[in-house]
Amino acid sequence: MHELKIAEELIGIIIEVAESENLKKVTKVNIQFGKIIMIVPDVFRFVFESGVKGTIAKNAKLHLEILPVKFACKKCKEETEIDDLIFVCPRCGSNDLELIQGRETIVESIEGEK
Ligand SMILES: [Zn+2]
Repeated sequence: MHELKIAEELIGIIIEVAESENLKKVTKVNIQFGKIIMIVPDVFRFVFESGVKGTIAKNAKLHLEILPVKFACKKCKEETEIDDLIFVCPRCGSNDLELIQGRETIVESIEGEK
């Protein structure tokens, strides 16, 4: 269950940012995951909510966004967004691809009260 490790890391970042902004409490957190990270949103939500207990983010509303996988073909330079994890360029059939989006774990924004 890698959700736990990722949740712990992101909670650390959220609390650090909240403290540096002098927030008394965090009300909303927006998190983005690349699809390749294979986060199960319900599992993440559960470990996140357990992880923020007793912190200034304990009542934060969690908003999760899954970013689609995008790659660039090194051969024909085509950029493609894919739904399933089949790594073949739809234009030229090459599998020499560079991932340009899909591996993110990002605290996109947080909101809170001072
Ligand atoms: Zn191509």
